[in-house]
Amino acid sequence: MRVVPATRCNSQPLLMAKTDILNLSREQLTDAVVSHWGEARYRADQLYAWLWQKGIRDFEQMSNLPKGLRKKLEEHFHLQPLQVETIQQSKDGTFKIAFRLHDELLIESVLIPVPTEKRFTVCVSSQVGCSLNCSFCATGKMGLGRNLTAAEIFDQVFLVNQICEQQFGRKLTNVVYMGMGEPLLNYRPVLKSIERLTANDGLGLSPRRITLSTAGIAKAIRRLADENSRINLALSLHAADDEKRNRIMAINKHNDLQSLLEALRYFYQKTKNRISYEYIAFHRFNDAIEDAKKLVKLCRHFPVRINIIEYNPVQNVPFEASEEDRLEAFAKYLRDAGLTVTIRRSRGKDIDAACGQLATKAKQKTEQQPA
Ligand code: SF4
Repeated sequence: MRVVPATRCNSQPLLMAKTDILNLSREQLTDAVVSHWGEARYRADQLYAWLWQKGIRDFEQMSNLPKGLRKKLEEHFHLQPLQVETIQQSKDGTFKIAFRLHDELLIESVLIPVPTEKRFTVCVSSQVGCSLNCSFCATGKMGLGRNLTAAEIFDQVFLVNQICEQQFGRKLTNVVYMGMGEPLLNYRPVLKSIERLTANDGLGLSPRRITLSTAGIAKAIRRLADENSRINLALSLHAADDEKRNRIMAINKHNDLQSLLEALRYFYQKTKNRISYEYIAFHRFNDAIEDAKKLVKLCRHFPVRINIIEYNPVQNVPFEASEEDRLEAFAKYLRDAGLTVTIRRSRGKDIDAACGQLATKAKQKTEQQPA
């Protein structure tokens, strides 16, 4: 996209509609400010820093830019900040934040602090809702609203980082793309948001601290490998054979385990980045030793860690969390087979813990308000 703001010698603005400045690349931004408005190059650098290092979403607050330039920016571009709709805090320290987008849609992010390990993780959404409709998931029930822009993903990290600093006096250490939506179905904006989060002229986070979690789209995993991505990859596996996986994740019908294993092996061979399997333990569905045996076989193709996740029940969904003794026996079997296994306890049980629940509730609340 090429941006054509009004030139100095042309009093008629060439832009008819305002453009979202956050959709411009650095080159496009510089082109607009330097080539078309005749500003010094460092002004474009200052503007870029306000947008992507300081996260400012109001031209008026960009105090080192001359008033005239701020006015021109206001005339030609818009900024569409996320608004915090609700913040819930759990007894265990987890924060769940619902954000309202400029078009009134709602998304959610989660701050998961582990102060004893100096680990502060944000879980971000990549889409409004999700098209994949996994049978255990609250977000899947919403269907897809729309894709998020790179800036809307970036801003979740930025704003949750502010909450983290206020609450714990620490910056975020990790980012996981594990919230609402399937990140690989919003490929370009997700990758662009990662670029901005990791760039030295962005937030400067290490890509090794970023994990993208996918329900499993083999073609997109290969694409990520071909782009030499440096982030970690997590596959939401949740079942160790196609028959069971088809029952809970419709995506598996077109991306079966064999195709996913091949794509992940390719990803590992090309990048050597960390791969993990996410495995929600559902009571008497996938938590038997037979399932663990099958899971061991899926771990022979490349180095992989297993995160067993305690299930957060969702209303009107016929799944329950695995019982403690079954969960422990399952994990023990895997560990005895030499695998690296972590059990991730459910966080925020006293708030709307499952992905998509808070945004759904906030939406219902809005809809119930009198017009
Ligand atoms: S589990 Fe993930 S991929 Fe599946 S419906 Fe929910 S958000 Fe979408």
